[in-house]
Amino acid sequence: MKAEIIKMTEDSIDKNSIQRAGELLKAGELVAFPTETVYGLGGNALNARASKKIYAAKGRPSDNPLIVHIADYEAIFDIVASIPKKAQLLAREFWPGPLTMILPKSAKVPLETTGGLGSVAVRFPSHKIARELIRAGGGYVAAPSANTSGRPSPTLASHVIEDLGEAIPMIIDGGQVGIGLESTIVDFTEEIPTVLRPGYISLEMLKSLLGEVILDRGLLKSNEPPKAPGMKYRHYAPKADLAIVEGDIPAVIAAINAYAARASMEGKQVGIIGTEETIGQYPTGIVKSIGSRKDEESIALHLYQVLREFDECRVSAIYSEAFYTPKMGQAIMNRLLKAAGHKVIKV
Ligand code: AMP
Ligand code: MG
Repeated sequence: MKAEIIKMTEDSIDKNSIQRAGELLKAGELVAFPTETVYGLGGNALNARASKKIYAAKGRPSDNPLIVHIADYEAIFDIVASIPKKAQLLAREFWPGPLTMILPKSAKVPLETTGGLGSVAVRFPSHKIARELIRAGGGYVAAPSANTSGRPSPTLASHVIEDLGEAIPMIIDGGQVGIGLESTIVDFTEEIPTVLRPGYISLEMLKSLLGEVILDRGLLKSNEPPKAPGMKYRHYAPKADLAIVEGDIPAVIAAINAYAARASMEGKQVGIIGTEETIGQYPTGIVKSIGSRKDEESIALHLYQVLREFDECRVSAIYSEAFYTPKMGQAIMNRLLKAAGHKVIKV
């Protein structure tokens, strides 16, 4: 199967194509589409067979539950058994937007969609193409990131085409996504709201609204089993060895240059992940800028893209600066540390 690629932008939505994409979803087929976080691989969330197709297309383990996307707030009442006050508060503040909430599920949601769990993950995205598609597809779209399992999440349609271009009937190309990291996940099935995955909506933003919010213990220690079933899987490992070099910037640059020089003397090719501010200071290796430290959102947006680009290069080792930026640092470093298998060199 070769995917039909349909281009559109949020400002000029091609209604006819959205209608056709919606018909595909209603018929139990899969459609990849842009959201404000990353590209999603959509299927009808209330159709167990469609969910199974998603797992098969991605090569994703079937105990790793899917997020159900809605396009109108009222739609949530059909798929959850209850919704606590604090969840309503978050919805009012951050929806539509990059926030996923875990709530007890209603009988309407098949266990195939929730990986066998009694709870369901719900998100109401802000991306206009995503919302139009969800409505056209019946209102409930299960959509994990549109990459094959084990690859970085797609931030451009070309990434989706690389991974799934032969596996699904349609890909909507809406250009580059806005944020570039997956949604923040907050679990409301616990006494205290718990962040299972950090994202654009930071812990501080959640706390300022809800008071007490905790981070899942699996996020704090790499040996603790995480509560979001998907977080236990080694998400993505670059083809080359990736190490994060952490410390004051001048010391980090010196250390990376020393590693790069040694590797190059041994005849190896090295990759370096720096920023606009530092890339001129790395004389050896293939050097890529992830963005600017003055604009942390640019760092989040390019992380997966840079990792994909290095998979295309013949490098045997990658050294990356650390990016503990004020707002999104927790989310950025969560993904980068996973990609590095938690290999950190402190200088
Ligand atoms: P992705 O689909 O790649 O964005 O990943 C979705 C994440 O949400 C995975 O880490 C899942 O384990 C997590 N998730 C989805 N549904 C639930 C749920 N009911 N309980 C806990 N975690 C969930
Ligand atoms: Mg994913």
